[in-house]
Amino acid sequence: MPEIFKQNEIDVDHLALPSNFEVASIIYQQHSSALLQFQNGVHVQSSCIMCEEMSCLVSNQNEGVLEELTLSQYNKLCPTEAIEIDETGLVQIDKQDCVGCGLCIAACPLGAIYLDENKLAVIEHDNHIFEKSENAQSLGCIGSDVYANPVIDENSELIESIIERIKLRGDNKLSLNRMVQNLLANVGVTCQLTRQGDVNLRMDGLGLIEEKTIVIEIELDTNLDAPRDILDDIAVYCSRYNESLDNVEGLIVSSHLPNKRTEYWELFSDIRNVLGLSIMNVTIAVLLMLVWNRRPINLGDCFLDRDNMSLREYTARALGREVGIATPDSLIEAAK
Ligand code: SF4
Ligand code: SF4
Repeated sequence: MPEIFKQNEIDVDHLALPSNFEVASIIYQQHSSALLQFQNGVHVQSSCIMCEEMSCLVSNQNEGVLEELTLSQYNKLCPTEAIEIDETGLVQIDKQDCVGCGLCIAACPLGAIYLDENKLAVIEHDNHIFEKSENAQSLGCIGSDVYANPVIDENSELIESIIERIKLRGDNKLSLNRMVQNLLANVGVTCQLTRQGDVNLRMDGLGLIEEKTIVIEIELDTNLDAPRDILDDIAVYCSRYNESLDNVEGLIVSSHLPNKRTEYWELFSDIRNVLGLSIMNVTIAVLLMLVWNRRPINLGDCFLDRDNMSLREYTARALGREVGIATPDSLIEAAK
């Protein structure tokens, strides 16, 4: 189905869609907005049109896991609240707050946002990409098959810089959790964050895949206690909500995977053998790469343990190509 979006009425001259608006492909570029290729062969560099949906601002896919969490949900797309509408009505990004995660770049249907040479997001406003029109409410259509390449090409340096920028923030745990929530939503896993300090729901978040609830722990650094913490979380969840263990799974989302020789990997095998419970591991790097390539996640392929400590093969399969991260790298595999 084509995505239909509508322009907001705003008092800026060049923002109007012509009636014959038809994009054949959108080609993402380094350090500038995407190239729009029209059916008639014309190429132009993209620019923000202040579309009505404003998918760069809002994330509305984070409901439906647990009713009591819905009211307190974070429904902005940007994990650090760097995107706002300014006094003139234009969407702007505050570079002081941007961590360069690319969620907004993937969300903008027109490719009007990009990462600059400092790995920070910029919205292109200055290209007059559409003719002036009397009809500021005209509709445009973009099919999901027009996106020609990844919105961002991955490399270790870029991903480490995103993690580092999150780490340096005063509200790093909150920003991290919000980023993971919206990355998961973007790859097809509904996720709701729990309230920090909630003594009953101590996990960082709850998700849904098919009929199963996923208990989620989110870690900025390698936390060797994460497997034990998630067992606690699952026990508390099952007991408080009278849920059978068969309907619950655990997911650890972390910035890096622990080294091969740590006890971490043994624990997953032990937990599965003794309790019949499989815990999934995903890294922030994997989530970012899936979002940048517009791919869904298959969490069923993310069960790691002492026999499989790497997400490289899975990620390559999901992307349909080799991963652009040198081997070995704790961003996607146990490194030493
Ligand atoms: S940046 Fe993109 S998504 Fe945001 S308002 Fe502009 S065109 Fe719409
Ligand atoms: S790149 Fe990420 S942090 Fe920066 S403005 Fe976009 S969503 Fe916010």
